[in-house]
Amino acid sequence: MLKELLLQFIVALLPVFAFQLWYNKEQGWKGMPIFMGIFCGASMILCMLTATSVFGYEADFRLIPYLIGSLYGGLPTLAVLSAIYVGIRIPMLDSVWELFSFITFIIVFATLIVLSIHHFQQASALLKKRKGLQLMSGMMLYYIITITGFISFSKETWTFEMFLALLISTTATLTATWLFIFMIESVKEKQLLHEEVKRISVNYRNEVEKLQLFIDETSFGVIVVDCAGRITHSNALAKTVFNLHTNFIGDKGLLGVDFPLIFQHGHGDTCVKMLVQALNGKKSSLVPFVNNDKILLLTTIPLRTSVNEHAGAALLAQDVTELRHLQDEVGRMERLSLVGQMAASITHEIRNPMAVIRGFVQLIQERSPKSQEGYFRIIIEELDRANMIISDFLSLAQNRALIMEPSSLHEVINELVPLLHADANLRGQSIDVSLCEHLPLIMMNDREIKQLLLNIARNGMEAMGNKGSLNISTRCTGSKVELRIADQGVGIPPEQMKHLFEPFFTTKTQGTGLGLPLCLSIAERHNGRIDVESQEGEGTAFIVTFFLPEARAC
Ligand code: ADP
Ligand code: MG
Repeated sequence: MLKELLLQFIVALLPVFAFQLWYNKEQGWKGMPIFMGIFCGASMILCMLTATSVFGYEADFRLIPYLIGSLYGGLPTLAVLSAIYVGIRIPMLDSVWELFSFITFIIVFATLIVLSIHHFQQASALLKKRKGLQLMSGMMLYYIITITGFISFSKETWTFEMFLALLISTTATLTATWLFIFMIESVKEKQLLHEEVKRISVNYRNEVEKLQLFIDETSFGVIVVDCAGRITHSNALAKTVFNLHTNFIGDKGLLGVDFPLIFQHGHGDTCVKMLVQALNGKKSSLVPFVNNDKILLLTTIPLRTSVNEHAGAALLAQDVTELRHLQDEVGRMERLSLVGQMAASITHEIRNPMAVIRGFVQLIQERSPKSQEGYFRIIIEELDRANMIISDFLSLAQNRALIMEPSSLHEVINELVPLLHADANLRGQSIDVSLCEHLPLIMMNDREIKQLLLNIARNGMEAMGNKGSLNISTRCTGSKVELRIADQGVGIPPEQMKHLFEPFFTTKTQGTGLGLPLCLSIAERHNGRIDVESQEGEGTAFIVTFFLPEARAC
């Protein structure tokens, strides 16, 4: 009998084994009623077909797939399983007593199952086991009562074997019920765990990608190290701002490299020191650091885990070189404006007495002997030069609103060309003008642009000595108009380049150093820019660029 019971046990648990396979394929609970209907139905049929007779009563585990299948599958499964049960069982019954007891069983327990389905499906694994065991105990009790009734009805007596058989089959049924629910719940738990792990790993990957993207795209050079000092993150900017050793950059970039190795000896020492301090928990922010021609602001952040353990450190560097240049530029502009203010205030004071002096000098010159004429000429020339310096000052300081109107740059150039030709001829030089075909009108103040062109052209001629040609050309590209004045003069040494537009910077004994600052302020007033290209010994080109509004683009 034990062998048969074991077979029954396995057959009753068949749906669970199938469930594990089905679950693996389907990865979900969809289709549960159909699955339970098919597999528990098959299991019930097999249980009934392989049932063993215990004193005239079939002892089998058909109730396990019936009960658990219905509880998990819900009402449709209960209906299918009940139909299978009734369809197979009724033809097997051979007494009215059996028929009555079976029909009562179906009515009572099907109703109980219907009432339990919702609670069962919502319950935790523990409650499900309890609920399943309660229902199964009820069914077994009913089974024992009917057997007892049958034995007393047929006037038989209980034997020890009968009692033992009943005990074994009841215990096995309850155990199988518990195992059935336990195994299905384990699969469910495994699935939940699997999904949770998947969700966490996807989240983790997203976070890491986001962090890397942030580090890659940020305008800071970033190096992140773990608590052992190995690099875990870095970006391309870090390599340039820190001027790192390139021989450590492998397939994975700097990943895994010990941070002290990547910094150059000498100027990288500050970074190493700051990172070591950060790894020891000390935060430092905005430490200025000069690396070659770059000015950096360094910040280190000690990194900690949520439980306050050292997790590493991050070094951030902001390249403020541009900012510093901008500050210098602002300083220069401020100086320029100061010069302007000074000029404005002293001009009247100086110009008037100078005009008086010039007038009297001329008067004395007329009354003086011819032999002293040379001296007077020098006095008057020098007075004129001083006057010219004051005029330049005044132009630079000019703050009043300019009258701008749409004008042709070509016309301005053509008006100046005869004057420039005359100047060039005197010096033994030539002027070569090549203007583009079509040039849109530019909002400008003719007088100022003439002054700009004259200043730059004169500088060019002064740089060329007794020969050479000065080339004046124009070009229109999209939203820009370029005026290029190129000479074949001595060129400008690189170290002088950055001082060109500073007031009073001059290399000429008779120079004022105000011509180019004046040109720059004119260009800026015209929403323009001046670029300089120069080759020592070959010549210099000044390119004045005017930016056109969209509507006028060529
Ligand atoms: P200045 O002509 O009175 O010296 P500028 O401001 O016009 O003052 O020019 C400043 C300096 O820039 C000049 O002294 C000269 O050294 C340099 N420079 C300007 N233009 C040229 C040029 N075309 N070629 C070479 N050097 C130039
Ligand atoms: Mg000049």
